[in-house]
Amino acid sequence: MSSTVLEGHPAPLDAAAPLSDEAIIATAPVKDEVEALYDSFEAVKLGRKNMDWPVFFWMAGMHLGALAAPFFFTWQAAATALVLHWATASIGICLAYHRYLTHRSFKLRQPASFLVTLCGVLSGEGTPLQWCAVHRLHHKRSDLHGDPHSPLEGAWWAHLYWMFVKKTPEERATLYRRFIPELAQKPMLQFFEKTFLLWLIASGVVLYAVGGLPMLLWGLCLRMVIAYHSTWFVNSATHLWGYRNYTTRDESRNLWWVAILSYGEGWHNNHHAHPANARAGHRWWEFDPTFWAIRCLQAVGMAYDIKDRIPETGAAAEDGPAADEADAALAA
Ligand SMILES: [Zn+2]
Ligand SMILES: [Zn+2]
Repeated sequence: MSSTVLEGHPAPLDAAAPLSDEAIIATAPVKDEVEALYDSFEAVKLGRKNMDWPVFFWMAGMHLGALAAPFFFTWQAAATALVLHWATASIGICLAYHRYLTHRSFKLRQPASFLVTLCGVLSGEGTPLQWCAVHRLHHKRSDLHGDPHSPLEGAWWAHLYWMFVKKTPEERATLYRRFIPELAQKPMLQFFEKTFLLWLIASGVVLYAVGGLPMLLWGLCLRMVIAYHSTWFVNSATHLWGYRNYTTRDESRNLWWVAILSYGEGWHNNHHAHPANARAGHRWWEFDPTFWAIRCLQAVGMAYDIKDRIPETGAAAEDGPAADEADAALAA
């Protein structure tokens, strides 16, 4: 599939050989479904009629639990929250969902592949397939029409409101088919797609069994909410504030405090310029603990084929809206 179709511009008609009605009908749905997908991520869609209520109530419940957590403080619960925060946010989201699955910036052997993906599932940020599909769309259309969460449409929209817009089954099918065709075939990811909620419920039951309400509120609610906002700052703040090492078409920035909160993901301009690179930090002070974890997995023989060459500063590999991965998926 050519990118011209994705952009919504049908191939120019040759006046000497006009397309038959059948050919026009055959090409029309391709354009329409992608345009409809882009339209589905417009901020104007947000409203009571289109609300994804399960997502809304989940987020509201987690935030209420997080607000209650300080009243149920124990050292054991706080320490558990800290460890789980690192495991789910750095290993689960940054390492597994983002750099490993979405961008394929390194390869993993089993059981590491399963375990790090499970960490991502326990973050409560959606199934691996959902997360990767939305993120590839972000790279494809960053700060353009179709970007799921551009702060150009409002900082709060980019931070969290975008998640509250319900998608139709057709829109979700288009998103998966167009952006993650190869991931959607993987049995492990299909397994997590079906069992996602069970893992989350099981983690809550185990935490409650081990340490009662304090453990549940700290180890699940507060830990998850802090990780949510750290991830969301990458979507909102690092497309608004910070400095740029590379010239990119989008508004991506490097922002130190988001990098601290998100285990290295805040060097977001570096990432948009070189999305397939396993390193987010490209200068010596741009610390990137998630990359250290990838190095550790390499040291024990679990990670290999790591794309880690530090690019020349000032040169952007990605001078257009396309991420390598999204292009590859769309070309399939
Ligand atoms: Zn971005
Ligand atoms: Zn990315």
